[in-house]
Amino acid sequence: MKREFAVIGLGRFGGSICRELSMEGMDVLAIDVDEDKVNEFKNFASYAVIADSTDEAALKELGIKNIDHVIVAIGDNIQASILTTVILTDLGIKKITVKAQNDYHEKILKKIGADQVVHPERDMGKRIAHNIISNNILDYLELSDEHSIVEVKVGERMLGKTLVDLDIRANYGCNVVAIKRGKEINVSPSADDALQKSDILIVIGADNDISRFERHLV
Ligand code: ATP
Ligand code: ATP
Ligand code: CA
Repeated sequence: MKREFAVIGLGRFGGSICRELSMEGMDVLAIDVDEDKVNEFKNFASYAVIADSTDEAALKELGIKNIDHVIVAIGDNIQASILTTVILTDLGIKKITVKAQNDYHEKILKKIGADQVVHPERDMGKRIAHNIISNNILDYLELSDEHSIVEVKVGERMLGKTLVDLDIRANYGCNVVAIKRGKEINVSPSADDALQKSDILIVIGADNDISRFERHLV
């Protein structure tokens, strides 16, 4: 199934989205004001065009209205990012994803109708920080300001114990929602199944509870 996407801003972040979507066989319209950037993407994006996205007439001419999902990846120029997003919401684009530069930018983008605001530097920084705390923390996903999901390898302290033995819910207020064992993923883990080396737990909880869990058990 081919869907139509547009990526505005072909820096490292937008460029990476554009490349990945194209490799997955998606139809991508790549837009940048910079001619060199556009030339870089001519070979694999379905269409690569030079345009200033703050120019409403230029966007209309590109037929942006017919595109299902537009990704705005303009970083440093916050004003251009905001103006572009306003134009896209006015045009009634179904789904708009925008990269935010800071919290204030994020707030404005949400207010003016961006469907999804992403913060790649901040979020990747958090993930890597958790991975640095322990090599056993494989991934970290923020659900809200106060809640997250972590993916952790079973450490020495958990080996051979059951979820009942560890009593994670009572001791840390977190829930183990799934256990990955090899290729299998068990989404209703049994409380009295002994954990094995190389099992991976998926744990959900409040950030401070997850931090305690990470410090004590991972
Ligand atoms: P990176 O993803 O590399 O960190 P960045 O977040 O630092 O990038 P910029 O380099 O500021 O973001 O911008 C990304 C791209 O957006 C640049 O290639 C730039 O030319 C393009 N861009 C900036 N303003 C506009 C605009 N008004 N219309 C179209 N493209 C634009
Ligand atoms: P971002 O993560 O925001 O996209 P960036 O990858 O564009 O950042 P820079 O803004 O160039 O990177 O640099 C990141 C930080 O590193 C800046 O705060 C800068 O002051 C600092 N920095 C740059 N060079 C040095 C240096 N030689 N010694 C110490 N700090 C430095
Ligand atoms: Ca940047």
